[in-house]
Amino acid sequence: MLLQDLFASGPASRADLARSSGLTRVTVSDLVAEMIADGLVAELGAPTETRVGKPPTLVGLVADAKHVVAIDLSVDDQVVGALLNLTGEVISRESRDRAGRRGEDAVALVQEVAAGLIERSERPLLGIGVATPGVVSPDGVVIAAPNLGWTDLPLAERLREALGQPVYVANDANTAVVGEYTYGGGDEDGVLLIRLSTGVGAGLVLAGSVVHGRGAAGEIGHVRVAADGETCACGRRGCLETFLAVPRLRRRLAEHAPEAVLAEAGERLGAALAPVVATLNLGELVLSGPLDLVEPLVRISADTVRERVMPVSAEQFVVRASKLGDDGVLVGATGLVLAGELGVS
Ligand SMILES: [Zn+2]
Repeated sequence: MLLQDLFASGPASRADLARSSGLTRVTVSDLVAEMIADGLVAELGAPTETRVGKPPTLVGLVADAKHVVAIDLSVDDQVVGALLNLTGEVISRESRDRAGRRGEDAVALVQEVAAGLIERSERPLLGIGVATPGVVSPDGVVIAAPNLGWTDLPLAERLREALGQPVYVANDANTAVVGEYTYGGGDEDGVLLIRLSTGVGAGLVLAGSVVHGRGAAGEIGHVRVAADGETCACGRRGCLETFLAVPRLRRRLAEHAPEAVLAEAGERLGAALAPVVATLNLGELVLSGPLDLVEPLVRISADTVRERVMPVSAEQFVVRASKLGDDGVLVGATGLVLAGELGVS
């Protein structure tokens, strides 16, 4: 509880912590002493503006107390890895071409990248967070990730056994929305994040929790939005993904007038999301992906949503690009480990 307070609100005095937590000052002092001994928290001195009397000493979270290894498998044919500190700042990076590797070969590559980053860390490790496309169970079993050739793969357990660290595995869009909510200042009334990468997925945070549904929440990319569109990876035609997946969008931009291509993609996205926005009365829609594509799509999809819902549904509704840019998924994977190991979000 105290860590959560320091993480969410920044440095505070022991008296502030007692007030906000409802614990006694003696208990707070004992707990703070324990966290200082663990290296998670440090005394920061007095605040610059002090009132009359003896200034209180502030304590705060130590950003580099521990490091986290984060792996992003959502970037086309790559294993993107990084070492991050507790504030989501990247300390070191390592990426490898997947070169079409799938199944067990892809697992071995993920393990290799993680092991390399663990070796490079000069701080104690808090754990490993992995973001993968596909449907993932809450205990880190990849139920289906067609691009990686994984079915019912207990990835968290496999990596935990091989690397001797706590491991958290989640869907890439869910991971990105955790990052946005934890580090990007996401709206508390609800954030829907649309992740544009090899495919198109969505992550939803409502009332402070990621929504999983029965396991496959967020699979909006495979909603059919055109009867006669291109054939999708799922075998059907005209899925939302066929208009917005990054490789397809880039190909169309090279072949046709860019303005028309982006207008169509943005309108398709806005039309698919308008019922969701109206149903949930969301505060915020975040687009995550390559910025050159995301920026025009933010504008076009926002206009389309507003056109299609009652004004009251779109009151104070904001569409924006992810504040975390390309690192959103890595930062989110760090958030998964923080939530699991320290209970902060
Ligand atoms: Zn599809």
